[in-house]
Amino acid sequence: MSDVDVLVVGGGIGGLANALALTQKGLRVRVLERAPEFGEVGAGLQIAPNCTRILESWGLLEEVLSLGVRPENLVMKDAVDGTVLTRLDLSDARERYGSPYVVIHRSDLHGTLLRACRRAGVDLVNNVAVTAYEHVDDGVAVVHQGGREVAPVVLAADGLYSVARPLISDDEPVSSAYVAYRGAIPAEQVASMDVSMSDVVVYVGPHCHFVQYPLRQGEMFNQVAVFRSPKALAGQEDWGTPDELDAAFTDTCDQVRAGLPLMWRDRWWRMFDREPIMNWVQGRLALTGDAAHPPLQYLAQGAVMAIEDAWVLSEHVGAQLAAGGLDWDAALAAYNAVRPEHCRRVLTTARAWGELWHLTDGPREARNELLRHRDVHDYSFVDWLYGPTALTPDQEPPMFTPQPLEQPART
Ligand code: FAD
Repeated sequence: MSDVDVLVVGGGIGGLANALALTQKGLRVRVLERAPEFGEVGAGLQIAPNCTRILESWGLLEEVLSLGVRPENLVMKDAVDGTVLTRLDLSDARERYGSPYVVIHRSDLHGTLLRACRRAGVDLVNNVAVTAYEHVDDGVAVVHQGGREVAPVVLAADGLYSVARPLISDDEPVSSAYVAYRGAIPAEQVASMDVSMSDVVVYVGPHCHFVQYPLRQGEMFNQVAVFRSPKALAGQEDWGTPDELDAAFTDTCDQVRAGLPLMWRDRWWRMFDREPIMNWVQGRLALTGDAAHPPLQYLAQGAVMAIEDAWVLSEHVGAQLAAGGLDWDAALAAYNAVRPEHCRRVLTTARAWGELWHLTDGPREARNELLRHRDVHDYSFVDWLYGPTALTPDQEPPMFTPQPLEQPART
């Protein structure tokens, strides 16, 4: 007999979200994390209304709002001439979507989930790297340096290089040849610069883009510089180095170039995603978060999708428990019926989004002209993302079609 109902492998945002959601439904959950401490590396994170709505249902929105910033607009500018191309007015996002758009330091969101897991009684274990999975009669066994432990259900939340995913799919991470540099710095360092402390601003340019937004109630400022690496395209191993960063932004406007010296230069993130797969479940083993659907980050939905995964699975589990008994196979099937298709749409749209942002020459000018004329209150291209998370395939909204939004059913 296992002493837990669910083992979660990986204690990132996705793993902790799953652990919290299932514990709130009354299950006993253990998280196995390979790192010696729970934590997040990186800087800012945008969390759209489809995520904050779920955080509110878990009782975490107040804490998240106290740590983050509610931006007024998502502004898109041209990285070469610095002009505004378009914006999305977020001031009425709460009214339209029932929940706000928030930017937050990654460690603050992770810390909020971690504290909530501790309060809820999740068993949180560090220094355990899972190396293999075995299907057994009463569930799934995970293998690690300490031996082998069995649970009725195992959720693999172990990220892009998931050890569990090869059991389900033989695909490999796909390199986009793009690199991200990040930097979250005290806001005083940008006080004399031409930056916005109330908006998320993205400068889109030829094979590059640059993102800026405030963090921690305006005490910090976050920047992300993303560019295509010539060394990656040439097949060299040491791609994404700081000399490439500087070269990639040579022809950008003053505001962008002023921000570059403030980036962290000792680490960078190579941008990989994977081909979408339409099955995430094998027996009682299920993939979740980046293990299931690592995106290119251009829609800012990677962590958001991980949190949605956790909510959807836990809602199905909760509905079963409320109906008198937990049928894990049915709950996992319900999860598998709805999440892969939604995430497939996000992954493929994120790739297309990146291509649109990084256009050059004539196509870039045509894009700019079109964007300059769009209505800043047109939400049709984000309604399918920011609206209520679907629990079943028939609730999944069509893409890019304006829909009357209804608030999600709470169970
Ligand atoms: P991970 O964060 O990768 O966590 C996996 C965890 O599993 C880690 O703690 C790891 O140590 C552990 N682990 C791995 N292997 C094992 C093992 N064998 N045994 C035990 N433990 C293991 N998303 C957004 O929603 N909004 C954004 O604005 C946004 N911006 C981004 C910007 C950039 C530059 C990048 C690169 C990504 C961005 N994302 C964004 C995406 C987001 O960061 C990820 O999608 C999200 O963090 C995935 O969380 P996860 O928990 O599934 O995986």
